[in-house]
Amino acid sequence: MKKKILIVEDEPAIADTLEYVLRTEGFETVCVTLAQQALRTLAAEDIALVILDIGLPDQSGFDVCRELRRTSDIPVIFLTARSEEVDRIVGLELGADDYVAKPFSPREVASRVRAILRRTTPLSPRSATAPPVAISTTAPGAQSLFEIDAAGNRISYAGIRLTLTRYEYGLLGALLQRPGRVLSRSQLMEIVWHDAEDSLDRTVDAHIKTLRAKLRAIQGDPIETHRGLGYSIRDKTP
Ligand code: CA
Repeated sequence: MKKKILIVEDEPAIADTLEYVLRTEGFETVCVTLAQQALRTLAAEDIALVILDIGLPDQSGFDVCRELRRTSDIPVIFLTARSEEVDRIVGLELGADDYVAKPFSPREVASRVRAILRRTTPLSPRSATAPPVAISTTAPGAQSLFEIDAAGNRISYAGIRLTLTRYEYGLLGALLQRPGRVLSRSQLMEIVWHDAEDSLDRTVDAHIKTLRAKLRAIQGDPIETHRGLGYSIRDKTP
């Protein structure tokens, strides 16, 4: 069955180009021009990935993504015309999977779409569901703050169940499997996203940031940043 890509773009020339390239690549496409149409389409149809322009006539692509992320982890690639929007994509913690700056090569967009779909569907044993299986995070005697229910893809922190996106879950699982060890962004990419060449350090940073906010809201922040190296996690009660 062909995967369906939703293109949300109000400039017909860009939408047409994307549609043409994606169809050539064997995808089905749906094009809409308004944020509200995008949300309706996402609710009604089985969409595999969204290509989302930020400057839309009725609302911004940021609004669409924020609304979408309340209920769904469906991959989102932002289309952006301005470099300051790139900072917001990362800074707003919207959970975007990637972005492409205009003007872009349609082939490049198509290859990002393929890469993201490869690593997000289906949830294979190597994917984000995998890292937390059968882990022992602490030395004997120390009590782990984390509780992992790998079957249910759930992690609790200090007894409180975390609500995590797929990538946050993957990152936390990857860190918890190796407590105390520093993992570089590219290692984390490799473990969690599987397609290091297609992804960027800042994707890890953006998801680490949202993950930290969730942990901090419960009790402290056990993730440590090692400048120029990566991240590690502490998982022991003092
Ligand atoms: Ca636009």
